[in-house]
Amino acid sequence: MDATTAIASDDLAARLRQALGDDRVITDSDGLEPFLHEERGLYRGAAKIAVLPRSTEEVATAVRICAEAGVPVVPQGGNTGLVGGAVTGAGEVVISLKRMNRILGVDAIDYTMTVEAGAILETIQNAAEEKDCLFPLSLGAEGSCQIGGNIASNAGGINVLRYGNTRDLVLGLEVVLPDGRIWNGLRALHKDNTGYALKHLFIGSEGTLGIITKAVLKLFALPRERHTALCVLADVDHALALLARLKARASEAITAFELMSGFALDLASAHSGDAKPIADAYPWFVLLELSGSQGGNALRETMEEVLGEALEQELIQDAVIAESLDQAAVFWRLRERIPEAQKPAGASIKHDVAVPVSRIPEFLRAADAAVIAARPGTRLCAFGHLGDGNLHYNLTQPEGMDPQAFLDCWREMNDIVHGIAVRLGGSFSAEHGIGLLKAGELSHYKEPIELELMQRVKAALDPSGTMNPGKVIGTA
Ligand SMILES: Cc1cc2nc3c(=O)[nH]c(=O)nc-3n(C[C@H](O)[C@H](O)[C@H](O)COP(=O)(O)OP(=O)(O)OC[C@H]3O[C@@H](n4cnc5c(N)ncnc54)[C@H](O)[C@@H]3O)c2cc1C
Repeated sequence: MDATTAIASDDLAARLRQALGDDRVITDSDGLEPFLHEERGLYRGAAKIAVLPRSTEEVATAVRICAEAGVPVVPQGGNTGLVGGAVTGAGEVVISLKRMNRILGVDAIDYTMTVEAGAILETIQNAAEEKDCLFPLSLGAEGSCQIGGNIASNAGGINVLRYGNTRDLVLGLEVVLPDGRIWNGLRALHKDNTGYALKHLFIGSEGTLGIITKAVLKLFALPRERHTALCVLADVDHALALLARLKARASEAITAFELMSGFALDLASAHSGDAKPIADAYPWFVLLELSGSQGGNALRETMEEVLGEALEQELIQDAVIAESLDQAAVFWRLRERIPEAQKPAGASIKHDVAVPVSRIPEFLRAADAAVIAARPGTRLCAFGHLGDGNLHYNLTQPEGMDPQAFLDCWREMNDIVHGIAVRLGGSFSAEHGIGLLKAGELSHYKEPIELELMQRVKAALDPSGTMNPGKVIGTA
């Protein structure tokens, strides 16, 4: 940072302190550290100021002061995002929502919960459960990610098949706009056809259009019955056939249908120390879950029938139905440990793609062949939400290869994998968003007219470009 920026930064910090109080503004390097860290270690933030407001009005004041000074702000939640969306550039100010973490109310008649944006996802799940309700958003980072970050990134997770993405779980929002004004759209309505649905602009906008400060969330009945099974399969076409059978018999009860390659499960088992429930080597595994609010054993019987028929017809090679919640937890732990289990196996190049569900086998065949042809020996670590058509198509470096040499293939691998997904009518970013990491991909793959509309929306809501600049639509 040059001397002029340093003076501007000191001056800005003084103004923020005067308006908000000393304890709301952090400028020392130890205090700033957590806000500069980036989950995947691909970036490092450069902000010299972090603001930690305690109310919507304080967020609005901080945003207004920064906007008047022409200084960009970067909203930050739990900082668990995987695409660098909350990373700050030099001279930018972090606005962290971590102190705005209250549950403001649970309405078990309306089946809604009103929360501040900094509430931790797990706290929200627990608060719902205390009232005998379910908030179904669930993902690996739920102990530290915040609902504001989930909404801003339209997070997916393991229950999308039954309950939808975060977008489907939000009824109303309160947002601080880039000029510091507050938009109160905090409505608990399931139906509201009064013009453009503005909340949907902010959901998935990754902090580029405003700072979400409160939300009204949808709740559901708490399941009384939950059955989890792990199946082994010879190929992915059979997984699709199994999904179709389950849908025909218990469509609304399927809460998860997760695909894991044998390699991915082996890594997770070695890393977590949990033995694989089925020890033999198989190419594919499916973790599936049926749940419902009826209670009783009807879903267990349906699961046994469908899996029994699938075994007879050799759609699956074997299956284990969890006999206890503890055993189900082991199945899930294996699934959830896959991303971190890749680290000890060397460098990884990760993709988060979606294609129409029916085209998953075609995607895998094309991508596997193209990746191996380009870099022989690459270990294919595919897993993900098959029921949503969303795969984490991760690549682990060939054994013995220099990790950096594999990482140098990042661009080439992205081009191969994203190109195939898009050719099959899919998306190059199904869950994690665009952030900084995929801003170039967005301008490459989006139709010019779609990109232009996005740029116009950005310009309309943030004409001076100070709200999380460079993310999503880049600097265009
Ligand atoms: C172990 C692990 C597992 C994960 N699993 C999944 C998964 O299954 N599915 C999935 O979709 N994602 C997953 N993720 C990534 C996921 O997007 C994030 O974990 C989460 O949704 C982001 O929340 P956060 O509070 O950490 O947001 P941050 O990382 O802090 O921010 C993410 C983006 O949202 C913006 N933002 C944050 N708060 C606000 C706000 N209040 N207003 C406006 N903008 C804001 C930021 O500027 C940034 O662009 C996973 C991440 C990890 C580490």
